[in-house]
Amino acid sequence: KIRVRYAPSPTGHLHIGNARTALFNYLFARHNKGEFVIRIEDTDTKRNVEGGEESQLTMLKWLGIDWDEGPDKPGAVGPYRQSERSAIYGPLIQQLVDQGLAYESYITEDELAAQREVQKANHEMPHYEDEFAGLNAEEKAAKIADAKAKGLKPVIRFHVPVHKKYEFNDLVKGHIEFDSDSIGGDFVIMKRDGMPTYNFAVVVDDHLMAITHVLRGDDHIANTPKQLMIYEAFDWEAPVFGHMTLIINTQTGKKLSKRDENTLQFIEQYRELGYLPEGMFNFITLLGWSPVGEDEIFTRKQLIKLFDHKRLSKSPAKFDAKKLEWVNNQYMKQSDSSKVTDMGLYQLIKAGRLPEDPDNKTIEWARTLVGLYHDQMSYAAQVVEESAVFFTEPPKLDEAALTELAVETAPTVLNKFAELIKQVKIFDAVEINNAIQQVRAETGVKGRHLYMPIRIGTTRSTHGPAIAESIELLGREKTMHHLEVTLA
Ligand code: GLU
Repeated sequence: KIRVRYAPSPTGHLHIGNARTALFNYLFARHNKGEFVIRIEDTDTKRNVEGGEESQLTMLKWLGIDWDEGPDKPGAVGPYRQSERSAIYGPLIQQLVDQGLAYESYITEDELAAQREVQKANHEMPHYEDEFAGLNAEEKAAKIADAKAKGLKPVIRFHVPVHKKYEFNDLVKGHIEFDSDSIGGDFVIMKRDGMPTYNFAVVVDDHLMAITHVLRGDDHIANTPKQLMIYEAFDWEAPVFGHMTLIINTQTGKKLSKRDENTLQFIEQYRELGYLPEGMFNFITLLGWSPVGEDEIFTRKQLIKLFDHKRLSKSPAKFDAKKLEWVNNQYMKQSDSSKVTDMGLYQLIKAGRLPEDPDNKTIEWARTLVGLYHDQMSYAAQVVEESAVFFTEPPKLDEAALTELAVETAPTVLNKFAELIKQVKIFDAVEINNAIQQVRAETGVKGRHLYMPIRIGTTRSTHGPAIAESIELLGREKTMHHLEVTLA
């Protein structure tokens, strides 16, 4: 039975790249009627952040991802947090020490740094050099006794076999091989604080949790040979590995990195802006994977059915924020209007465009307003900028608007419209449309030269939702004010 896992470290919020890892594992499990496990990798206690785990799980659920076992859903092979599994790792580490496959190491950070300096001067890759090199058993014992007397705590290092080939068939990248001499020497499997390192714990857990396939980011590819050595030491069968390509930010042309401050990268940020989980799910699935054909919009169910790991891309995925907007707009358009107006209302209040506790009349007005923008919104917060003219002093006209107003007939159209609109009895879209038709009849101007000046004169922009409805919501007073400003 296929079993996969997503193994987040609770070091912060759910990043797009991690969400993608979770999502591909989820789709792979569901497509193959397998099982999906969440395991929290929290052994690097310095990097854990308060609330990190909860925030990650909440965001996964928001995206529509569910799992069969996890810290909140205990199964047969728990606990599902590495920090709670010390009783499992300890004896296994001891076993390797007893077999001579691992050993206590007392080398200090300073000594390691000194090794690196020399290696750097010799143009060598940084690596751990045997701290006991050239010592006989007696000298070695003396050295250890001395370290102990000084109160030094050891780490446990794994004996890396010399000059041995480690190879695997990567689901995404194909055949990969490493020489054991290239991985930097004997590596640490247990830290001074008694916690196992990632490379050790991940192997023990994947084995004991009966994980069959490990799909993860290719930033882990260099860890794979170390993990294969540990599988070999225990005589356990290794899972199948698949390393997904990195994600390139199309805005910077570089790897999508938490340090790009101009790109939103956390799922929570997108939720807060009023993106839809279905849109995010759909978009993230297309980061480094694509089904056969040209279609790009799929429900979760369709994706589960279509998911084929053979179509995971070998070249970097492109993160294009504009595409995300486009995808989400497809889902906004399909959503029912009460949901979208709720989301828009929340954003308007949050932005301070509306009072915290608006009265019913204001709510009704705002709902109609958001409704006007429904089809063009990529995400709910967009309505705040798009509808600014309804809340602020008339904005300055842009080049496009000025060009439209430079048309000879524009002032005639605007003056006539202002005159008529001042007089309409009921200030609603029907009457406003009538007024526009009357302007046409009286001036003979039609089409773009009729509508553009009116749109710009009232909403101060060359684009926007239906014009008569927009003017109705703007109200008589603001409309007159904008026309005056435009004509001045
Ligand atoms: N905790 C690791 C990470 O967050 C998981 C790596 C793995 O999937 O093996 O990158």
